[in-house]
Amino acid sequence: MSGVILPGSTIGVLGSGQLGRMFTIAARRLGYRVRVFSPDDDTPTGQVADVEIQSAYDDLDAVADFARQVDVVTFEFENVPVETIDVVDRFKPVYPGGHVLHTTQHRIREKTFLRSAGVPVTPFRAVYSIDELKAVRDEELPGVLKTAAWGYDGKGQVKVDSSDELESAWRKLNCNEAVLERFVDFEKELSIVAARGQDGSVAIYGPIINTHQNHILDLSVTPSEFPPTISKEAIDIARVILTKLNVIGVLCIEFFLTTDGKLLVNELAPRPHNSGHLTIDAHATCQFEQQVRAVCGLPLGSATQLRPAAMVNLLGDIWQQGEPDWKEALAVGDLKLHLYGKREARVGRKMGHLTVLENSPYDAEQKALAARRALLARHADKPLADANA
Ligand code: AMP
Repeated sequence: MSGVILPGSTIGVLGSGQLGRMFTIAARRLGYRVRVFSPDDDTPTGQVADVEIQSAYDDLDAVADFARQVDVVTFEFENVPVETIDVVDRFKPVYPGGHVLHTTQHRIREKTFLRSAGVPVTPFRAVYSIDELKAVRDEELPGVLKTAAWGYDGKGQVKVDSSDELESAWRKLNCNEAVLERFVDFEKELSIVAARGQDGSVAIYGPIINTHQNHILDLSVTPSEFPPTISKEAIDIARVILTKLNVIGVLCIEFFLTTDGKLLVNELAPRPHNSGHLTIDAHATCQFEQQVRAVCGLPLGSATQLRPAAMVNLLGDIWQQGEPDWKEALAVGDLKLHLYGKREARVGRKMGHLTVLENSPYDAEQKALAARRALLARHADKPLADANA
């Protein structure tokens, strides 16, 4: 176990979106200073950090300078180039380490790791050329062709129903490496968010039940009402992954629960996750504080859930007909509003979320959805196509 980095020290964050923002808020609450590094300025993280550095990730001199001025480094998204992490690593500890990033930022490496760890994954084949798609058998379809790198929120993936669609799907993705996954007939999607400290201890949240709209997370609810065997299996899988991947920090595991009751891992995210945002208000220690504690070598906090909770995302869509009616939504009891300080509310862009605490997960979900509808109350005469989305 390396040295403990105490409050008052400076944490460096690579990436400056909402995850970095919520991480920074947790870090500052614990008395740390935060420097954030990204190519942008006036960012969600920069607005709450001590210092915001605007520079490209491949400006390795700037990266080295940044590393010299902090005590430890973490990242808020997995597409930071591994070379950037390697430079940081020469100067300061970085958690989770470059090996975690290397595995999880590439779908073929990630799935190969999971399979070798004995974890059930969606059946897949790696594809490196259009010719290889000719070998695909009908039993492998319908499927989803996904780029191996740089995919998120459904970007870089195309559903393929029959073999004559494979070629156009490959051209559409315009990449050199992809995975063809079997399309999963799932009953539910769920996630486990887990933290692992430098002493090897693990704290687990979930299973959290997730619903997506247009491939973007829409609603998360916890606790789940799965049979204990399913919850236990998901938690056991999470422990295996965190340990075998030697994660120090936070990792989210997204699962499908198939219609015939099997758990399959869909993908990993080596950082706090959108489905764990409800831990800020509903749990004794939130996912972001766990990341702070893990990267600084402190003991993890308790992941105990205080009340049932539901979180809904607020996408830029809600702004399209004017400023949302915050007064209406904030009048709902036990509701917490989180906005990320983004200047431009584009359709599909994550602008914030709200979490409702209630006596049951069902009540929390109903109240959260109603609160989001209430944001549109002032525009009721001009309803959006999907006021619930
Ligand atoms: P991903 O970016 O891979 O997490 O995909 C985003 C969403 O697309 C998932 O949360 C699912 O709702 C859907 N999806 C992705 N892969 C599959 C699959 N193999 N079968 C069915 N749905 C999928």
